[in-house]
Amino acid sequence: MSTNGNLTAAERVTIPGLPAQALRADAADSWGRVRAALGARANLTDSYRPLSVQRKIFLERYEPRASGAGPYGDVRHYAGTRYVRMRGAAAAVPGTSDHGLGLAVDVFALTSFTSEHYRALAKVAHIHGWNNDAGVKINEPWHWEYTPANDTHPTERKPDVAHLIKGDKAPATYVLDPATGLRRYIDGLEFDVYTKQGSTVTTIPQAQLDALPKVPGTR
Ligand SMILES: [Zn+2]
Repeated sequence: MSTNGNLTAAERVTIPGLPAQALRADAADSWGRVRAALGARANLTDSYRPLSVQRKIFLERYEPRASGAGPYGDVRHYAGTRYVRMRGAAAAVPGTSDHGLGLAVDVFALTSFTSEHYRALAKVAHIHGWNNDAGVKINEPWHWEYTPANDTHPTERKPDVAHLIKGDKAPATYVLDPATGLRRYIDGLEFDVYTKQGSTVTTIPQAQLDALPKVPGTR
């Protein structure tokens, strides 16, 4: 596993049903199950966040200050410098966010701890290993983190149901291995077998598909 914010393409997997969002494979699989249960109420604004983006967000809100605690009383140390939050919501010191490990999501339009949306999401997310504990501390109903040990739903897919993907510019279809993030080309015959067993195909942007590493020795 790479360090926070530096996950390789193989270490971040597109979330089933949410082609623009990626997480570590087990978390992606889990949020895919949450999304399957809740539909659009489990859509996301953010998931894996590379170090460069963590830095950008932090530096937009925090400024170097030798003294004082600023308007929010929020002082943090980053790269040997003392920073004070001057604007916006709290942000993790770059390299420490669970988003950088591919283990955190921000749920779209989930802005209240008391809404029906929150209750519905919490009920499902908890049994799939997600909690809002860190979010509660910083007043973010939308921020949820994954703990594999708390995932009561089996992480193994039914062996006969595969995660099939294709790009939006070519007909070739691949099986995506959720454990490794590698794709393997399948022919029409194998495609028919998988779909008859209940597998569905997720279409993602061609460039994103092309960027996914292949199982060695496959086309
Ligand atoms: Zn977040």
